[in-house]
Amino acid sequence: MQKTVLKNYAKLLARVGLNVQKGQEVIITAEADDQPEFVAFCAEECYRAGASKVRVEWTSQKISRLGALYRSEEVMSEVQPWQEEKLRCEIRNLPARLYLESEDPDGMSGIDAEKYARALQARQKVIKPYRDKMENKYQWCIAAVPGRNWAKKVFPKESAAGAEEKLWRAILSASRSLEGNPIANWQAHNRDLESRCAYLNSLGLRTLEYKSSNGTDLRVGLMREGVFAGGGERTLSGVFFNPNIPSEEVFTSPRRGEAEGIVYSTKPLSYQGQLIRNFSVRFEAGRVTEVHASQGEAVLKKIVGMDEGAAYLGECALVPYRSPIRESRVLFYNTLFDENAACHLALGRGFTNCVRGYENMSDEQLRLLGVNDSMVHVDFMIGNDDLEITGISAEGARVPVFRNGNWAF
Ligand code: ZN
Repeated sequence: MQKTVLKNYAKLLARVGLNVQKGQEVIITAEADDQPEFVAFCAEECYRAGASKVRVEWTSQKISRLGALYRSEEVMSEVQPWQEEKLRCEIRNLPARLYLESEDPDGMSGIDAEKYARALQARQKVIKPYRDKMENKYQWCIAAVPGRNWAKKVFPKESAAGAEEKLWRAILSASRSLEGNPIANWQAHNRDLESRCAYLNSLGLRTLEYKSSNGTDLRVGLMREGVFAGGGERTLSGVFFNPNIPSEEVFTSPRRGEAEGIVYSTKPLSYQGQLIRNFSVRFEAGRVTEVHASQGEAVLKKIVGMDEGAAYLGECALVPYRSPIRESRVLFYNTLFDENAACHLALGRGFTNCVRGYENMSDEQLRLLGVNDSMVHVDFMIGNDDLEITGISAEGARVPVFRNGNWAF
């Protein structure tokens, strides 16, 4: 891939994704084996944007896999005092965080998924209170770069170099960074998403009704105080940033306890390196009561059982069938992309910033309004070409939101 294109993409991530502020620290998380040159472009663009310090946290899926294979559950569950100190330090400094994804979707195969999930759960218990203290206070951005195995998974017939080049093109095209000026492209895209949110928020919807010929027949309750959001968001101190690049969705946090019916997945779900295929989820009074999958049913059950809130919905996201990512016809095997190719729901944690006036509410008030809480947030795709979504207002007025898989307005 051309260096100028990659530098423009790095600039997009620093300026629009993170919107690095003068004097702010930045932490970049990236796989050590993938695109180190691009990581350096990102670091440079963050400095150019005014970062006081850029630190890279190199990760290695291979080493993580070995850790999952060989370590005891006890060791895997530990959070060391220095790790807690690091979190306290982040709460004080609020660095912007860039996550560059490139993992192999099958890269954790063969591990004991139960053990892995239990250890994650144990660590999350310690980490979550720290994370809660940082929520909505710093800018973060998840974006992607090609990893060798990931590229081969997406383009199995290509050579290693050919697959990498094709995946770069697919990532950059989906991220509106292959043509034109990526920053201008994103300004226009953010405006479009903003106007759709404004319309939806003017309707006072209390229910979303999903129907599709694949059997999906689901009603999800919305909070009276809830809002639809999309594209960029703001930190509590008012800094605008784009947490996901790409992002095509308009989303809200549904009201916990109000979901009835069944929904069918329309894409496989890759969870921690394990695939779940052709699954359905049934809800009663907001809670998952039944799941089935042709592959990975045990993993899906494990997700739902991670904690109390994992069996409730945390997100309803609207993505037109005519999205650039779906139209690329590339199955990325990565949620950042595949979730932007289709309407989706998420199990687990909801978004506190999808509540009007959340800035002045306590966590407890937000929970009472219906924002779900959990240590997990797992998206799964339910959109297809005949999905109909109808919004229902408090007065019972029915408003078409999606028809034939696309925006009805
Ligand atoms: Zn989403």
